[in-house]
Amino acid sequence: MSEKQKFQAIKGTRDLLPPETALWNHVEHTAHAVFSTFGFGEIRLPIFEPTELFARAVGGETDIVSKEMYSFPDPFDLGELYARFRSLESISPGAGHFASIAGLSPDNQMISLRPEATASVCRAYIQHGMHSLPQPVKLYYTGPMFRRERPQKGRYRQFYQIGAEVLGGTDAPAIDAEVIEMVMTFFARLGLAGVKLDINSIGCRECRPEYVKLLKAELSKPEIKEKLGADSQRRIETNPLRVLDSKLESEQPIIEKLPRIAEHLCAACAAHYASVKHNLVLRNVAYHENWRLVRGLDYYMRTTFEITAPGLGSQNAVCGGGRYDGLIEILGGLPTKGIGFAIGEDRLILSLQEAGKAPAPRRLDVYVAWMGEKAYDTAVRAARALRGAGFAVELPATAQKFGKALGHADKLGARYALILGEDEVASGQWTLKTLSDGSQSKFTEPELLAHLKL
Ligand code: ATP
Ligand code: MG
Repeated sequence: MSEKQKFQAIKGTRDLLPPETALWNHVEHTAHAVFSTFGFGEIRLPIFEPTELFARAVGGETDIVSKEMYSFPDPFDLGELYARFRSLESISPGAGHFASIAGLSPDNQMISLRPEATASVCRAYIQHGMHSLPQPVKLYYTGPMFRRERPQKGRYRQFYQIGAEVLGGTDAPAIDAEVIEMVMTFFARLGLAGVKLDINSIGCRECRPEYVKLLKAELSKPEIKEKLGADSQRRIETNPLRVLDSKLESEQPIIEKLPRIAEHLCAACAAHYASVKHNLVLRNVAYHENWRLVRGLDYYMRTTFEITAPGLGSQNAVCGGGRYDGLIEILGGLPTKGIGFAIGEDRLILSLQEAGKAPAPRRLDVYVAWMGEKAYDTAVRAARALRGAGFAVELPATAQKFGKALGHADKLGARYALILGEDEVASGQWTLKTLSDGSQSKFTEPELLAHLKL
């Protein structure tokens, strides 16, 4: 490693820089504003959790848990274990060596950077006894998630989600519809055009197994199986529903002819789904039914939805969500209803940028061009007064020549230069130069504030 080595952000991670961060702030502020009008409160969660939490909630068989998580043994636990073995060295030679092996054993507390946040929200609901609060509990979060995927446009190893969960109370279809309405309202508020909402019902513990059995039997027929790709062939055994998700061109005609879950829902699920659709219409939310939209995890049930946005190429899903009534129980809580969604903030931002929806970043209002040591005190006072009144002000730290100061003000895109030289300080009449047209006027301090506020 040379001394001149240049460090680079790790593959799949990136720095978000101004002016783009202004758009990120705008998106997050809009989320806070819209979600609070639906009665959601913000939850802030740890970035890392026990690996076991994700293994149980997301599922050990999923790609996320089996290959994409950043997991490592908790260094503190390792140290403690190591010390314990070292202390045995005198009575049992070799114990110290064993310690280093034992330290890497999976029996240790393994922790993982969170690949998603639903598991953490459910853990928090149980941990803080939220079932005794008025139900349902409505929570939202924003923040970074981590998955070791192949980086490409719209797919990163550290990415950001904005998500919400409704936990407890009833599983009435009105809740499903309201959650979807909230996301669509958020997107509309951001001016995101051309979004498409796909919905489906994937049944429940009663009716889905029957359907999956039927699907599996169909997919296993030799004349069908042999036409499927290797991934889909494997999924016939591991997770046949996922075959429906396949984007492989050659599989499309086969998938189109497979049995559809909508025709195999039990009466309760069919009624629930019909009512979700009715409730979406009531709320003026346009949807497309997509019978192939599945979530591959066991605990998902009934309503599933996905929202796509334009300008993103093949990574065009900006939001995924669904109902997961069994999840809290799987994590050791009481049987609890649940539904939620996660928005991919990186993709949402990309789509807004593609559509030219990025708000103009805040401009610099006043550049304080002070000249001569005597003007410095006045310049500091002027900057304080202007910032106090809410203006964006640049106060150069060192004295500059007049021409250089104005050149700098121009480069920063300032609207005005406040010129403070010895004359201005002595007379109390400050010079304000409008940089767009070069015009100049004189003002006293209070006059200046009043003038700028117009
Ligand atoms: P995809 O099919 O695009 O991999 P997913 O089903 O893995 O998405 P979810 O786990 O449902 O995604 O996460 C919800 C949203 O988070 C996605 O719709 C997407 O917008 C975003 N997202 C997921 N993984 C990434 C990633 N690696 N980089 C950027 N955004 C992501
Ligand atoms: Mg994925």
